[in-house]
Amino acid sequence: MRLLIAMMKHETNTFSPVPTPLQRFGTGPGPLYGDDAIAAFRGTGSGVGAYLDIAEREKAEVVLPIAAGAPPSRPVDDAAFEHIAQQICEAVAKGGFDGIMLDLHGAMVVESFEDGEGELLRRIRALDATTPIAVAYDMHANLYPAMIENATVVSGYRTYPHVDTYDTARRAGDILVRAIRGEVKPVIAWGNVPMLPHVMRQGTDDHPNRELQERCAAMTGEGALIASLFTGFPHADITNAGLSAVVVTDGQAGLAEQLRDELLDRAWVEREAFVYKIEPLKEALARAQAMPEPSPGQGPIVLLDHYDNCASGGTMDTTIVLGEILKAGLDNVAAFAIYDPAAVQQAIAAGIGAKLTLSVGGKLAMPQIPGDSPPLEIAGTVKTISSGRFRNKGPMGRGVMTDMGPSVVIDTGKVEIALISRHVEPSDLNCFYSLGIDPLQKRYVMLKSRVHWRAGLGAMAKAVVDLAGIGACTSDYSSLTFKNVRRPIYPLDLPNR
Ligand SMILES: [Zn+2]
Repeated sequence: MRLLIAMMKHETNTFSPVPTPLQRFGTGPGPLYGDDAIAAFRGTGSGVGAYLDIAEREKAEVVLPIAAGAPPSRPVDDAAFEHIAQQICEAVAKGGFDGIMLDLHGAMVVESFEDGEGELLRRIRALDATTPIAVAYDMHANLYPAMIENATVVSGYRTYPHVDTYDTARRAGDILVRAIRGEVKPVIAWGNVPMLPHVMRQGTDDHPNRELQERCAAMTGEGALIASLFTGFPHADITNAGLSAVVVTDGQAGLAEQLRDELLDRAWVEREAFVYKIEPLKEALARAQAMPEPSPGQGPIVLLDHYDNCASGGTMDTTIVLGEILKAGLDNVAAFAIYDPAAVQQAIAAGIGAKLTLSVGGKLAMPQIPGDSPPLEIAGTVKTISSGRFRNKGPMGRGVMTDMGPSVVIDTGKVEIALISRHVEPSDLNCFYSLGIDPLQKRYVMLKSRVHWRAGLGAMAKAVVDLAGIGACTSDYSSLTFKNVRRPIYPLDLPNR
C-alpha cells in the first residue's frame, strides 16, 4: 500500500489583524517537509500521528510532502496557500497512491477565496479523479460543498477542548483503508442550518454540545461509519460560517441523510443554549475578588480574558483585563500571556533579577474591532528568561513541540506576567512550568483562552470567572460587522422561534 499524508491547518478569523504568511505555518521557520515532518509528528497525539500509525500498521509506504499548521489569524496570504497546495498537488500528480489522508482544519479562508480546503481538494481531484481521500476536520470547520464532494471519508472532532485530534484522523484513516480494500463503499450526506453557535457555549463538557457529540458517537452503532457535528467558527464573515453535520455510511445514502437531518434538527432545537450571555468586566472582577481564597494546593480561581484568545485569532496583546487586575490590586496572580516580542527583548537585555518598567501590548491595531486597546505600563523584576520551547504534556497535542518564542516572566510583586514572542494559547500545564510558575500555588490565574485551557488546566481550577475585555475574538458578536455570511442567521437576525 502507498499512502500520501499531508497537513494544512488554519482557522481563519476574518476580523483579526494578525497576518498569516507562510512563516506562521510551523513551530520554527515555517512548514515541515518530508522526513522532518514525519519525525516531528510520529508518535504524537496529532492527526498526522494517527495517519502515520495506520501506515505503519499496514506496512504502507508513506509520502508526506508537507505539514503546515498555523495559529488562527486573518485570511491566509495567497502565496502561503499556493505554496502549501502546490507541495501537495505535485505529490498527487506523480501518482501511484492507494489512498490520500489529509489532516485539515476546515475553516481556512484565503485572501482570494473563502474556502481554502475546498480549493485544495478540488485541485487534487482535478489531478486524480479516483484515489480515495480521507479528511479529518476540526469541530470549528465551516463546511462548503467542495470540502465534502471531493472527499471519500470525512471525520470531525467530537471534543472541545480538542483532545481527540488523533482519534478523529484514526477514524477517517481506518475507514479509508477498508474502502481501499473494497470492504466498504462510503457515501456521504452533509448539510447545515443557519446558526452561529457562540464559541464560549461550544464546550463538550457542557450542554448542549455534550449530548450532540454523544449522539454522533452513538450513530456508529446504528449504521453510520462516521457521524460528525461541526459547531463551526463564527469569527468568519464568509457565506457558510456556522453549524453543519456530515454522516458517512456504507452505501446507504438514505440512512446517511436521515441521520444528518436528525443531527441538524437536534442542534437547531438547542440554538438558544448556544447563545452566550456577557457579564460586564467590573462586575465579574468584583465577583472574583469576593470569592474565598483557595487553600494551598486547592487550585486557583481562573480568570478568562476570552476576547483575546490567540487560538481564535486574537492579537494576544490587549491589556484591558490585565490592567483592571493590576488596578484592583489582586494578589498572588499569574497571567498568561501578553504577546510582545519587543518587550521580551528589553527584559532579556536587562537580565534576570533586573528591575524595570515596560510598556507592554497594545501594539497591533484592530481596525474591525470597536474600542481602544492601549499599551499597559508594568513595573517589576525579571523572574524568568526562557527559549519558550516545550513538548506538550497533554492531553491536547500530547508530545507535540510548542514554541512560545523567547519568553520572560515579569514579577510585579503581586502579579507574575508572562510575555511571549509567538502566539500560544494556554492549554497545557507546561506553558507555566516551562516558565518557572506553578499555577496550583496561585490564588488567581489569568488566561487568554476560551475553552481549550480546560484540556490541561481545567482540573486545577477552583472556580472560573469570564472577564469581558477587548480582542479580535470578541464574545460580543453584535459588535462585529457581518457582510458576507448568509442571512438570515441565528442569533444575528432570526427571532427565536
Ligand atoms: Zn477548533
